[in-house]
Amino acid sequence: MRVIVVGAGVAGLALARGLLAAGHEAEVYEESPEPRAAGGSVTLWPGSTAILAGLEVDPTRLGRRLETMESWSSGGRRLVTVDLTAAERRYGHPTVHVARGELVELLAEGVPVTYGARVEHVDPDRAEARLAGGGTVRGDVLVGADGRRSVVRRTLWGGDPARLTRWVTWQGFTTAPTPLTEGSAAVLMAGLRGLCGLAPAGGGRLLWWFDVRSAPGEPFWAGDPRLADRLRERFGGWADPVPTVLESLDEPDFFPHPRHPIPSVWGRGPTTLAGDAAHSMPPTMAQGANQALEDAWLLARSLGDLRGYERARARVARRSARLAGTEITDMHRPAAGLVPDRLATWLNTAWLRRASTYLLAEPARAS
Ligand SMILES: Cc1cc2nc3c(=O)[nH]c(=O)nc-3n(C[C@H](O)[C@H](O)[C@H](O)COP(=O)(O)OP(=O)(O)OC[C@H]3O[C@@H](n4cnc5c(N)ncnc54)[C@H](O)[C@@H]3O)c2cc1C
Repeated sequence: MRVIVVGAGVAGLALARGLLAAGHEAEVYEESPEPRAAGGSVTLWPGSTAILAGLEVDPTRLGRRLETMESWSSGGRRLVTVDLTAAERRYGHPTVHVARGELVELLAEGVPVTYGARVEHVDPDRAEARLAGGGTVRGDVLVGADGRRSVVRRTLWGGDPARLTRWVTWQGFTTAPTPLTEGSAAVLMAGLRGLCGLAPAGGGRLLWWFDVRSAPGEPFWAGDPRLADRLRERFGGWADPVPTVLESLDEPDFFPHPRHPIPSVWGRGPTTLAGDAAHSMPPTMAQGANQALEDAWLLARSLGDLRGYERARARVARRSARLAGTEITDMHRPAAGLVPDRLATWLNTAWLRRASTYLLAEPARAS
């Protein structure tokens, strides 16, 4: 089959790779003039690293393998440690943390992408896309993998269903040396003033992010001219390495947290969606890139049953979106220290399977 894919992000590129490997034709149209390598880094859970292995992409070449995920108090007291190697043993694949841009570049290798090609209109019933500046492309199937502000979804659903939660993320990399930079632990420090997350991304970089409550026009919203000062005022008294991070703030990226209902059927006729276009969610559970890879994996096997693909993926993506929408990691929970590490590890390992269509479909490996 000939498949037109709109968008060369994680979803579109992984899908194209899967389709090509299965003997289909895939053409990707991307509005950016070159691979969009911007952004911070993303955590890829075992379901995703398994899917990537199937696509002959090895993310451990890029990022850092994570062995633990730790919750600390703002004063630096370790409250609970999740052992990620338990999930690695159970599912046979690691958890890795990789720079989004490097993942996109790796996925793009060998995939026919037309850059600088913005799709401005689609006819979902004919699997047809009209490109800005002229030209129409048509396939047997058309996939909108065009992200949170998807043109394809707008045509299918009308309007933008996403609403913003009251949380926003400011993030960036620091190359200042910290004890976490060359390690294998991701750390979440939640306090009454917000959350600071820290994760090693390889290449001497540590991803940091601060989650705070904000809304348009309020402090900490995009364009806040006092942002760096405000972050220092709010988080300056937190334990190491937060002060080191705050010294090295350099043009942080801004991400307001979106959330939208995920219908059971999100496409029509020969047209469907994948990734954020279908289910954008807050980054709270680190699921955006993972759910995009899960879509790509199942869709590459479901071209003859697009509605079946949507129903199966909606069931699982909704679980992630629901939990992410609670902004659970942002909540200050001193009682977290009462949860034994073994229980937290067990819960996390079980959760990773429930959040993965791939792992749910592979009972032999996942039992
Ligand atoms: C520049 C960028 C930086 C990001 N940084 C982070 C980050 O730091 N941390 C994080 O957790 N998540 C980040 N994300 C989001 C994360 O990549 C996604 O949540 C997840 O990977 C799902 O990917 P996706 O492919 O569905 O969507 P996206 O990654 O948003 O990819 C969609 C692609 O479609 C293209 N596109 C959009 N509209 C059109 C159109 N009309 N015609 C043609 N092409 C179009 C976009 O340019 C983009 O390349 C970022 C996304 C982008 C685009």
